[in-house]
Amino acid sequence: MNAGGDVWWNRPLRVLQFNFEDSLGLYVSRITGREVVEVAEKIRANVIVVFARDAWGYTYYRGGRVGPPRPGMKGDFLRELVEEAHRRGIKVVAMVAHTANKLLYMRHSDWAQVNRRGEPILLEHAPPLGEWEPQWPQLCPNSPFLEHAILEVREAVELGVDGILFDSFRYQPDPERACYCRWCRQKFREEFGHDMPVEPNWNNSVWRTLWDWRYRVVVKALSRLAEEARKSGRKVMVLYNSHPAGWAGRANRVIEEARGVLDGVFAECSEADYQPPGFIAEMVKLTKAMAGDGVKVFASRNAFHQLKPTEPLPAPALRQGLRETIIAGGDPWVPVFSSQFVLDDSWVEAVEQVFREHELLEEYIVGSEPIRYAAIVVSNIVRDHYGRLNPSLYVDETRGFYYMFQRLHIPAQYLLDKDLKKSIWSYKLVVLADTACIDDSTARVVREFGDGGRGGVVATFMAGMMDGKCLPAGGNVLADILGFELLGEPIELEWAYLNPLDTHHPLLEGLDKPILIGDTRRDMRQRLNLASIVPVKPVEGSEAPASILVPAYKFGHEYTLGRSSPPPSHEARVAGVVVRSKTVYYPWRLGANYWYSGSPRLLKLLANTVNFLAGEPPVKVEAPSTVISEAWRQGDRVVIHLLNYTTNQRILAADFTGARQPLPAYSGGPPIHPITEIIPVHNIVLHVDVKLLGYENVKAYSPLTKREYPVAVDRGRVRIVVGELEEYEVVVVEPKR
Ligand SMILES: [Zn+2]
Repeated sequence: MNAGGDVWWNRPLRVLQFNFEDSLGLYVSRITGREVVEVAEKIRANVIVVFARDAWGYTYYRGGRVGPPRPGMKGDFLRELVEEAHRRGIKVVAMVAHTANKLLYMRHSDWAQVNRRGEPILLEHAPPLGEWEPQWPQLCPNSPFLEHAILEVREAVELGVDGILFDSFRYQPDPERACYCRWCRQKFREEFGHDMPVEPNWNNSVWRTLWDWRYRVVVKALSRLAEEARKSGRKVMVLYNSHPAGWAGRANRVIEEARGVLDGVFAECSEADYQPPGFIAEMVKLTKAMAGDGVKVFASRNAFHQLKPTEPLPAPALRQGLRETIIAGGDPWVPVFSSQFVLDDSWVEAVEQVFREHELLEEYIVGSEPIRYAAIVVSNIVRDHYGRLNPSLYVDETRGFYYMFQRLHIPAQYLLDKDLKKSIWSYKLVVLADTACIDDSTARVVREFGDGGRGGVVATFMAGMMDGKCLPAGGNVLADILGFELLGEPIELEWAYLNPLDTHHPLLEGLDKPILIGDTRRDMRQRLNLASIVPVKPVEGSEAPASILVPAYKFGHEYTLGRSSPPPSHEARVAGVVVRSKTVYYPWRLGANYWYSGSPRLLKLLANTVNFLAGEPPVKVEAPSTVISEAWRQGDRVVIHLLNYTTNQRILAADFTGARQPLPAYSGGPPIHPITEIIPVHNIVLHVDVKLLGYENVKAYSPLTKREYPVAVDRGRVRIVVGELEEYEVVVVEPKR
């Protein structure tokens, strides 16, 4: 990594990513490098990201050795773009070394990544049926392709670019896309003395070794490419596109293991249109957790809706998406394709508005730190070795917590399991959301944290049932910390009820009726077992203020037999929750249940849990759940971002599938509409703890609108009312001087 603070990227950046993705080059003759720079300048971008070489194998510069220049290209696109950009003080990052390269594949098909059936592994999302001519076949980093990729880096750096991005450098462990080419088979055999197993078998240590080895292949290749980029002696930023919620989320582990190799990570967020509001902010925080300190994180809001790059996204959606990156502490990045660039420039104004705000906010961003209160532990090892071929089994639990915290306006960050020992002490509350695999030393730190009264611990479901290598722990490594005794193996259930026993317990405040666990059997092929339970009972010193009610039937009869919820029947003699003074254990998946159901009762349960364990957060926001708040600390300032996601309806319908005697759907789904309007909300109240500030004589204002907000101090809390929130507001609290 380029250490030290004197690198050009060590300041707030705004990125225009301009892509030609066009096999016949229909647009390449219509756009010059200069025109791209002019638009970048207009929107106040200070970085342009462009292809040096595309996924078909063509280059966007002349005189190189790595591939032919794109036919039809006007002039010397990239070279001219770099010159023009530098003239205007804009940096250029070149995309190189994508594993997809069709021209090279046609010359060296033995360099291709091939799956277990011998098919070339594709970068594109080919339709499942019918003939398909591979467009973006991927080459293997274990083959001589890597030497070619190194040459690509060298040529790009020689063009004078300021950074390189490995945008689509993919090599997956998942069976459908895992490589079994001769280079891989040979390397694996040389290193481990075994052939690569073909069928997933998690009881086979060679399969597990192979799975983990594939990440090392990527990291090793990235290290080699990064080394090449840094040979020039100039400060060349090295970036990797992790696409955190794409590619089964596997590249998050690449980021974890490539710490020390990368200067920055591009969290591509192309799923934003069909993910929850707040998704981009979430991905920024997830990526920061993966990358560790000192690594720049960028996140994108596409300038188009869903998979329609030819058509612009409505401006409110574009603005809010770009702002999400900013409020979460990332640098905003807008991808635009050449078709939209030519056809419709209405995206330009929306981006310019947000990039201008970002310029204004620079003064409040540099050197700021998020308010650390709640941490949701995330683990690539758990996702891979416990979630295995179905990451959502684990990931839904972590994301459910994330969105509960977002809606409750509780400051929350993701915390990588590897960093828990070092960083747990910065938080008041740590959530072990189905963190199945925990090594002994981590368990010791969690104990110290909980027992020392420093903060509270929430754990759910299988947390602690496996050791650090994700092998059965032969019990539960957290049992004594969480105060329970294991009664047996986990019970697989589709439905259950949490049964409040002690309705005066603070955890159950306002919740005196049975709470349904499990979700509508929407897709019957998918056995989610959302009500599965680890059977436990409290030991001395802990209590179980709620038990579990077993449903009367396997599935409900009322309303729609087979799909609906069954009523509760009898009490199982197992705890629904185990509480010690500073720990709360839910032996079922609270997060995943919320992820699927959005149940307000579960949200209330978490609010009570947080309050019981950690008390009020130092920054409290009273606002509708459709407002996203992020609180930052910068020296003696507190900076609170408010982003309004009170919008028109986005998802109109979803269908039910998978019944035994299926019928056609009445209408198709899910239709996903873009956000077209933001509905203002009123009278948001901010409370900031005076202890956090360290002073009472405060003023509050908005750097965006220059508005001053009246301040009242009451019982140790500063109170600020934001009368109206249209789209976005930033409230700065600082000493009155
Ligand atoms: Zn291979």
